[in-house]
Amino acid sequence: MSLEAALRAAVGEAQVLTDGDLSAYEQDWRRRWHGRARAVVRPGSTAEVAAVLRACAAHGTPVVPQGGNTGLVGGSVPDGSGTQVLLSLQRLNRVRGLDEANLTLTAEAGCVLQTLQQAAAARGLLLPLSLAAEGSCTLGGNLATNAGGTQVLRWGNTRELCLGLEVVTAAGEVWDGLSGLRKDNTGYDLRDLFVGSEGTLGVITAATMKLAPQPAAVTTALAACDSLDGCVALLNLARARLGAGLTGFEVMGRFALDLVARHFPALPRPLPGAPWTVLLEQSDVEGEAPARARFEHLLEAALEAGCVHDAVVAESLAQSRALWHLRESIPLAQAEEGLNIKHDISLPVSAIPRFCARTDARLAARWPGVRLVNFGHLGDGNLHYNVQAPPGEDGRRFLAEHEHAVNQVVFDSVADEGGSFSAEHGIGALKRDELAARKHPVALSMMRAIKQALDPQGLLNPGRVL
Ligand code: FAD
Ligand code: ZN
Repeated sequence: MSLEAALRAAVGEAQVLTDGDLSAYEQDWRRRWHGRARAVVRPGSTAEVAAVLRACAAHGTPVVPQGGNTGLVGGSVPDGSGTQVLLSLQRLNRVRGLDEANLTLTAEAGCVLQTLQQAAAARGLLLPLSLAAEGSCTLGGNLATNAGGTQVLRWGNTRELCLGLEVVTAAGEVWDGLSGLRKDNTGYDLRDLFVGSEGTLGVITAATMKLAPQPAAVTTALAACDSLDGCVALLNLARARLGAGLTGFEVMGRFALDLVARHFPALPRPLPGAPWTVLLEQSDVEGEAPARARFEHLLEAALEAGCVHDAVVAESLAQSRALWHLRESIPLAQAEEGLNIKHDISLPVSAIPRFCARTDARLAARWPGVRLVNFGHLGDGNLHYNVQAPPGEDGRRFLAEHEHAVNQVVFDSVADEGGSFSAEHGIGALKRDELAARKHPVALSMMRAIKQALDPQGLLNPGRVL
């Protein structure tokens, strides 16, 4: 039987796409990666995923798993060879169960993150994973990339929220590891092997995730700081005063917010012109009034200590949403502005001010006029340190000519400070060479051994990560 016939037998005629406009599957969200699939296959169940993988294994055909296709490192689209099968998980979109007493949710990989947040909220519970792509990204993609987002400070990355997985192996076997256990020391942790594996070790078909009670109130505040040192001082003050109530601490550089103002002029900008703006989020078990009072005391102390020069506390849910909207609009405003050179780096929080001062200076010396769209999850030591062409220069050309050299400047500076060149977006195709060059050789050889053991034919997302 030909591969196409086997795929049709596995998922039905209508769910194997080979012609027409397949760009939604073949091109990534940033429109940087374009490929051509041998076929787009859309299974509707775990058993169908397993049948697809068995067919591909039998034909020696590579498979690229895809969820919401919002990944930022070129890992979710096929290459240009026309030989890879694009496996879309979007039809695996059922919530299988919600256990209120155990505080867990079991859902299929293609569920859109926002849908799952809503399913939990409908029962008074919180799925504490949130990122700007939540309206399109899927649970499977979140797990495969170990996504971070805006609540890592309190709840950890997707890995910390995952209790169990269902996975289809490269050979097409199904592993049912959907436990809702918080303790299970029965040998190697296979779950953690698949989380963050970017589709290279197996296909995630479902997961059991941790939930938490919905807080009584979520409030936000915005603070203007003159320096990154001020932002770090504010972070430590907020940690001391708010404890586990501090659920978000996002920093936004002036140019990042200038881009938002340019492309989304209708959004409010409460503290214009500050070199650094911090968005703080507090989740409170008591209610809004005590939370707001706690914020006010914190910000008074910060003003007194001199780390903040101006601040506002959101007075309503609508205002809170508007402040988050500002933060979440930065990636979109960047996309409107044109291509830039993106870095998703992490550093010890204490090293961030020094890192930025040194790296800003190194970049400016070599590329005068270069602009930095610098924003991110300061509470996690994670910056999106993006380099935009000097004014008047074409972003695409700047990227083509200087991306490699800019990356080396930034990543060498990251290494000097003991940081990571990929904090939350992963490796994909974009950073594969960087991984080979910068990861410890012993770590690389263990990674290769794991890949060889789980995918001996090298069919799962080839050319990605390793
Ligand atoms: P895809 O893009 O479809 O796939 C990503 C990778 O996972 C690919 O390698 C793919 O092969 C693999 N994969 C997908 N599904 C499966 C599966 N079921 N089994 C095995 N492998 C699979 N990321 C963050 O971490 N934090 C952020 O704050 C953040 N903000 C973002 C904001 C915007 C506007 C955008 C566009 C992206 C952002 N991202 C962020 C990146 C991206 O959204 C996340 O990586 C997300 O988790 C990817 O989910 P997805 O379903 O779109 O996966
Ligand atoms: Zn991020």
